[in-house]
Order: sequence, then C-alpha cells, then structure tokens
Amino acid sequence: MPDASQQVLITGAGRGIGAAIARRLARDGYELVLHCHKSRGQTEALAGEIKAARILQFDVTDRQAARETITADIEKFGAYYGVVINAGISADVPFPGMADEDWDKVLNTSLNGFYNVVRPAIMPMISARRPGRIVTISSVSGLLGNRGQVNYSAAKAGLIGATRALALELARHKITVNSVAPGFIETDMTKNVDFELAKKFIPMARPGQADDVAHAVSFLLSAGAVYITKQVLGVNGGMC
Ligand code: NDP
Repeated sequence: MPDASQQVLITGAGRGIGAAIARRLARDGYELVLHCHKSRGQTEALAGEIKAARILQFDVTDRQAARETITADIEKFGAYYGVVINAGISADVPFPGMADEDWDKVLNTSLNGFYNVVRPAIMPMISARRPGRIVTISSVSGLLGNRGQVNYSAAKAGLIGATRALALELARHKITVNSVAPGFIETDMTKNVDFELAKKFIPMARPGQADDVAHAVSFLLSAGAVYITKQVLGVNGGMC
C-alpha cells in the first residue's frame, strides 16, 4: 500500500480510460490529482466517489496554463510520485484530405501535452530524491501505423520516442518512464468504430475495456515495477 504522500497526477481523468485509471489507482491507495479540461462535472463526481482526490483544470495544449497550475499545485502539496499522461484526441481522415487543424490539434494534445505537463512536474520529482513513475498512454497506432491516422500515429510514435528518451535521462534518479499502448478500447473515442469489422484485426476478436488499460498502468506504478523502465506495454488483445 503506497503511503499518503504518493500523489499521482492523471491527465484527462474525467472519463474513458483516464477515469478507469483513477478508480483503479484510488483502490491501490494513491492520493490522486485528477486533471480535466471540458469534463469538469464528471471529474467532480469522480473526485467525490474517490475521496482522496483534488482537481486541476486546464487545456493541455496551453503551455502557460499547464505550467502555472501544476507549479502552484506542487508548491502547495509537494512533488508527485507519479504522472500519467492520458489526455489525447483523434481526428481521423485519409491524409490527402487532412486539414492543417487536424494535424495540429492531434500533435498539440498528445505530444506537446506530454511536454507541457511533464516539464513543470519533473524537477520537483527529481529534487524529492524518491522513486517515481511516469506512464504515457500511447497506442498500437504509434507502433504499427494505421490508415486514416497519420496525425494520430505520428503523435503516438513521438510520445513513445519521448518516453524512451526520458527513461534514459531519469533512470539514475530512480524514476521509471514507460508507455502503455492500447489497441481498440471501448470509450467515447471509439464510439464510431465498427467493432464487427475491427475485430478481424484483433487476435482476441473483441475490443478491450478501459479497466484493462488501467490494470497495466497500476502495475507500472507499483513498487514492484521498480526495475522496469523504457518499455512499451501493449494492451491490445494480441495486435502487436
Ligand atoms: P476519450 O475521448 O474518452 O477521453 C479523452 C480524454 O482526453 C478526456 O478526459 C479529455 O478531457 C482529455 N483531453 C482531450 N483533449 C484535451 C485537452 N486539450 N486538454 C486536456 N484534456 C484533454 O478517450 P479515451 O479515454 O479512449 O483515450 C484516453 C487516451 O488513450 C488517449 O490518449 C487516447 O489516444 C489513448 N488511446 C485510446 C484508445 C481507444 O481505443 N479508446 C486506443 C489507444 C490509445 P475532457 O473531457 O475533460 O476535456
């Protein structure tokens, strides 16, 4: 059981995979910092359910807002033990028809969002001289590429590269950095996916659930995962 000072920030915690991660980590005994952008109401309801949780609200693409909010939170409550970079969007369209905005917003949310959130959190984590954990939520699309997702695949492949490089920098500080790469998971993001068609590409022949991803995140945050870093853990029913 983690001690009360083990605070974990989860971005995009109000719904979908982020909310499942929050519920799972609450059961594990962490003190949670739930981040949201538009889903304030859902996040407040979740915080009420979880108890040991507070809420930070900002757009992860807004570097200044992220920096100011996270810095103020750390000044008040201390350095985080863990950061889970979960917030992300998709804007699927075949590349020849892709609008500039579709490219920019997907990269800005997943990849710049990683920088905007982890950068202000990292020096306090290092200065705390305690073990720490960073987990990014990437995607099977970042490993394999996917039609109609050139923007999303680029963002998630970039996130995996950033995860691996940061793992090298932080290894001597006992802070592990890993990525969880889900396949098709049933959430709002995939509500327009034809799972009858998609399951032909999934060896387990079914989509995954947000809890399946949360379980992997819980494992990587646990004390026992101390020697696991720079890894990408697939949660995809055998897709890759
Ligand atoms: P949802 O669409 O259900 O949730 C997306 C989350 O990201 C929300 O909590 C949302 O917060 C947050 N978010 C989006 N844009 C911003 C922003 N600009 N600033 C702050 N927060 C933002 O998606 P999922 O739960 O399915 O996805 C979670 C992560 O898992 C994403 O990174 C996604 O790419 C990844 N993933 C999902 C897969 C799937 O099949 N579902 C497969 C592989 C990876 P709010 O509502 O508060 O605005």
